[in-house]
Amino acid sequence: MKTAPSSLVRRLEEICGAENVFWRPADLLVWEYDAGFDRHPPSAVAVPGTAEEVVAIVRAARDAGVAIVPRGAGTGLSGGTIACAGAIVVTTARLRRIIEIDPVARVAVVEPGVPNLAVSVAARPHGLFFAPDPASQRISTIGGNVATNAGGPHALRYGSMSQHVLGVELVLPSGELARFGGPVADLPGYDCVPFIVGSEGTIGVVTKIWLRLLPLPEDVRTFVAVFSDVDSGARAASAIIASGVVPAAMEMLDAVTIGAVNQAFDVHLPTDAGALLLVEVEGLREETESWAAAIGRVLMQHGATDVRSAKSVEERELLWKARKLGYAALARIKPNNYLHDAVVPRSRLPEVLRDVNAIAARYGYVIANMFHIGDGNLHPVLLFDAREEPIERVMEASAEILKLAIDAGGALSGEHGIGLEKNHFMFWVFGPADLEAQRRARDAFDPDGMMNPGKVFPGGDACADIPTERAKRALAEGMWV
Ligand SMILES: Cc1cc2nc3c(=O)[nH]c(=O)nc-3n(C[C@H](O)[C@H](O)[C@H](O)COP(=O)(O)OP(=O)(O)OC[C@H]3O[C@@H](n4cnc5c(N)ncnc54)[C@H](O)[C@@H]3O)c2cc1C
Repeated sequence: MKTAPSSLVRRLEEICGAENVFWRPADLLVWEYDAGFDRHPPSAVAVPGTAEEVVAIVRAARDAGVAIVPRGAGTGLSGGTIACAGAIVVTTARLRRIIEIDPVARVAVVEPGVPNLAVSVAARPHGLFFAPDPASQRISTIGGNVATNAGGPHALRYGSMSQHVLGVELVLPSGELARFGGPVADLPGYDCVPFIVGSEGTIGVVTKIWLRLLPLPEDVRTFVAVFSDVDSGARAASAIIASGVVPAAMEMLDAVTIGAVNQAFDVHLPTDAGALLLVEVEGLREETESWAAAIGRVLMQHGATDVRSAKSVEERELLWKARKLGYAALARIKPNNYLHDAVVPRSRLPEVLRDVNAIAARYGYVIANMFHIGDGNLHPVLLFDAREEPIERVMEASAEILKLAIDAGGALSGEHGIGLEKNHFMFWVFGPADLEAQRRARDAFDPDGMMNPGKVFPGGDACADIPTERAKRALAEGMWV
């Protein structure tokens, strides 16, 4: 393990206070992982309390020739926060202020460490909410959501972060503080905001964000439709979209997930269901009434054995709790998992799901499916016990699932980002010229590669001392024909 130069550590302590800098190996253990499975400790961690401190940290690291990895809550599932190449981590854990909620402009201005859900909680008294709602929204930060272009169940209707970020303040790798966009629409000049959203910490540290708020819908209706199997549930989901009614959210839970959720929480999902569709519509009361009736009909025509609607806000919240905490519930079955994030065209969903389950069966893994079916974003979860089963085998099964999705005309990631998890697979979907153009765009901000090295782009060696990273590279290069 590489430690940060002591002169840099001393400088970081001067900037943030000694209590906000960590460098002893035992302290760094908690920073060596996120919610993915790559592991590597940073050389030091700084926890700044202001944007000015972030500026000073970036300058000090640049002068010492040390790279930076920005970090929010560490719920990322693609290894984006794993520090390699001797990098230090800069975490936003103390940048948690909601600076302003402007109910007239319908804009929230927040620091990057604010948890996603806190924005909607602060906006609610004004009759407003923040639409992107990753299932991790109680913990994951707005900075992390910006950097990964996070989605969530309601991305089906409202889109992902890129549709809701109006402006960003960013500390560039040079140590300058730059601002792009803001509360006013259509600013002149290049619109860099959509480029920054989804850039996964590779071009700077986000220190302030202007977010679009939306009026709370007048009426919300939530149903659960019961199916005998995943296949019929997937066909019904496609039929709903084809009917022309686009729900606000449409999620699928398979039998393995239902069992785990029932065991973990007091939610009483139907135990005999092979799959459930959780469907929500929202809007004006007149609209939701007719949409609800239309969706109910389509569900019954396409094999639902029962359709129940939530009778109260509490019932609705319980259903969403089941969905959003479903991932945690899977630990009841096996202690480890590999959660995928590939997207496939909606029309190919039923066959791809069948093939994904067949891959899991061939490798002998229990698989749980719980995902944003409305936009084709699969989340198959391979469950395993890392104490007994080699991680390389899980990665091999996972690469097969990824290839299946790409062959079906899909994408590598719907919302979790590329990070360290899928960087070596990028050439499966992008040609050399595409990747080179993306590299040059990154270089315009970070010509020396000092921000989150080793992430997003394939082929680099920055993180080659991480064994899982080497294994994934071998799989990506070996499996592609
Ligand atoms: C149970 C569970 C459910 C999830 N559900 C969803 C879901 O529904 N939808 C979804 O999209 N994702 C989901 N995720 C993944 C994850 O929560 C998101 O990717 C989230 O946006 C990460 O936020 P974070 O604060 O944890 O960021 P981190 O994990 O800390 O960082 C993620 C990336 O953002 C960069 N970053 C963080 N902060 C900054 C900053 N201030 N400036 C620049 N770069 C920064 C990091 O370098 C890294 O590349 C889920 C994860 C879990 C564990």
